[in-house]
Amino acid sequence: MNNCVFCKIAEKEIPAKFLYEDEEVMVFPDIHPSAPIHLLIVPKVHVTEFQAVEDSLLFQKLLQVVQSMIKKEGLGDKPHRIGINGGGAQDIDHLHIHLLGPIKKPSNP
Ligand SMILES: [Zn+2]
Repeated sequence: MNNCVFCKIAEKEIPAKFLYEDEEVMVFPDIHPSAPIHLLIVPKVHVTEFQAVEDSLLFQKLLQVVQSMIKKEGLGDKPHRIGINGGGAQDIDHLHIHLLGPIKKPSNP
């Protein structure tokens, strides 16, 4: 937890360009964007991964912020993706939600 990048960002030890912030949640751009808009929606509290979330209100809050960012970034009528990685599949072991757009729709096989 001491070396967690997202905790350091939450503590303002590492600067990030916040696009949204409140007491529980922060939003900033991914440093390695995979789409023109690639945001990370991150709880300030250190939660390791998806299945470790015990506070359903935190989920609710995170998803509300995702919705508002979709609106704010004008992605509502453009193809976009929301992604949550679980343990071991993410670079940083601190729960975060990716919002990416506009992206090409995958072509149907
Ligand atoms: Zn953390």
